[in-house]
Amino acid sequence: MTAAAELMDYDEVIAKFDPVLGLEVHVELSTNTKMFCGCPVTFGGEPNTQVCPTCLGLPGALPVVNEIGVASAIRIGLALNCEIAEWCRFARKNYFYPDMPKNFQTSQYDEPIAFNGYLDVELEDGTVVRVDIERAHMEEDTGKSLHVGGATGRIHGAEHSLLDYNRAGVPLIEIVTKPITGTGSRAPEVARAYVTALRDLLRALDVSDVRMDQGSLRCDANVSLMLKDATEFGTRTETKNVNSLRSVERAVRFEMTRQAAVLESGGTIRQETRHFDESTGSTSSGRAKETSEDYRYFPEPDLVPIAPSREWVAELRQTLPEMPWVRRKRIQQEWNLSDLELRDLLNLGAVDVIAATVDAGASPAEARAWWVSNLAQEANTRGVELGDLPITPKQVAEVIKMVAEGTLTNKMARSVVEGVLTGEGEPADVVEKRGLKVVSDDSALIAAVDEALAANPDILDKIRSGKVQAAGKVVGDVMRATKGQANAKRVQELVLERANA
Ligand SMILES: [Zn+2]
Repeated sequence: MTAAAELMDYDEVIAKFDPVLGLEVHVELSTNTKMFCGCPVTFGGEPNTQVCPTCLGLPGALPVVNEIGVASAIRIGLALNCEIAEWCRFARKNYFYPDMPKNFQTSQYDEPIAFNGYLDVELEDGTVVRVDIERAHMEEDTGKSLHVGGATGRIHGAEHSLLDYNRAGVPLIEIVTKPITGTGSRAPEVARAYVTALRDLLRALDVSDVRMDQGSLRCDANVSLMLKDATEFGTRTETKNVNSLRSVERAVRFEMTRQAAVLESGGTIRQETRHFDESTGSTSSGRAKETSEDYRYFPEPDLVPIAPSREWVAELRQTLPEMPWVRRKRIQQEWNLSDLELRDLLNLGAVDVIAATVDAGASPAEARAWWVSNLAQEANTRGVELGDLPITPKQVAEVIKMVAEGTLTNKMARSVVEGVLTGEGEPADVVEKRGLKVVSDDSALIAAVDEALAANPDILDKIRSGKVQAAGKVVGDVMRATKGQANAKRVQELVLERANA
C-alpha cells in the first residue's frame, strides 16, 4: 500500500471539506537554570551532567519555582494579548515515560498563567488572519531518549535505548491556539505563517533562542476536516514535533489530503498522534491519543500557587519590545523598501543583521548590499543563517566605513571580508596582514607615474597636445605597478599634472 494511493487531490479536498487547525507550540525558555532547580540549561552538554536530585525526581527532593521563568511566561502572555491570571497553580500530569524520571510532568492544567489572547498573522500577499490563543501555560521539558541499533532512530527495531536527563526540567511555555477555522485552501500557509510570527515574537521578547532544529521551538499540528455543510468538527489528529517552518506547512497539507481520502472511502479518522517524516513529507500513525482524564491531573502539592501582583504584571508590560510587525513597517519606511524588497530581506533572514550594521554606522543601502550579495552567498555555501556567519554586523560596518573613507577599494573590501570569515581577525588586522591599503601617499605614486610616462613618450606627447583621454593607458600601467592599491582617481590627476609639469 503506497502513501500516494491514500491521498486525495488537494483541490478536491478543498471543494469538499473545510479544514480546522489547532496549533500547539512548545518553546524552551533561555533561562540560566531549569524551572524547578538550579541546574543549567545549556544545549549540547555531555549526557546526564546537568542534573540534580530534583530534576531526577529522587525521593525527598523539593522543587522551587524559577522566577524568571514565570516572568517570561507573563511577558509572552502579554505580547499575545492574553489575560494574566491573578492566581494559578501548577498541576501534575501523571504518566510513565522513561525520559521523565518523576513519572509526572509538572505542568498547568485548568489554571494557566495566560489565556484568551490572539496573534495577528500576515500571509505572503498581505492578508491578515487573526489566530485566537486559548492559553499559554508553564511546564517543564522531559529528558531525551536515544534509541540505538534500529534503522529509523525510533524505538521500533532498536537494540537498546539511552537516556539523557539534561533536558528534564528545562522551562517550557506551551502556547495553544483555539480552533482555527475558515482558512480553506490556505490552511497550510496559515499554519506556517502563525509559527513564523510566533517565532519572531518570541525572538523579539528575547525569552528563547527559538531554534526549531535544536528543538527549542517545537510545533504539534492538530488537523481535522469537516464536510462543507457540517456543523461539528471532525476527529483530529495531532502531528508531533514538526521541526521546521516548511515542515509545518507540509504536515498540515499532507494530513488534509490523507484524512480526506479516508473519509471519502467511508472510513473514520482515529484520534491519534502522528509522526512527520521529513524525507517523504508524510505522516505515520503514532499512539492513540489520550484524553485529559487519562493523566489524572491534580494540583501540585509541593509548589505554592502563583499570584502575580498587578503591579508586577504592569512592570513586565513595560519591558515588552517593539513588536516585530511594527518594527518591520518602521524599517520598510526608514530603508525606503518596496513590499517585495522587504519580503526578500525577510526570506533571507537579513533584516536583523542589516539593522545591526546600520546601528553600527553604515548606511542602509550599503549594509543591504553587503549582506544580500556577498554574505548571503557565503551563508548559502556554508549552509548557515546569515546571523551565524563568523562576521559581525559591526565588522561589516567597519569595512563599509573604510571604503567610504577611500582607504579600501571595493575589491580590497571583499578581500578583507573574506579574511574575517576565514578567521584572520578584525578587519584592521586583515588589512594589515594582507597588505591591503590604498596607496594614497603621493610621493610613491609620483615615482610610479613618472616611470610610466617615461616608458610611453608617444602618449606623453599626446597628453601635452591636449588629448587627455590618451592618459588611460598610463593610468592602467600605474595601477598595475601598484598592484591595484592606488586610488585610480588620484593617479589620473597625477598623470595629467606630471605630463604638463
Ligand atoms: Zn536539577
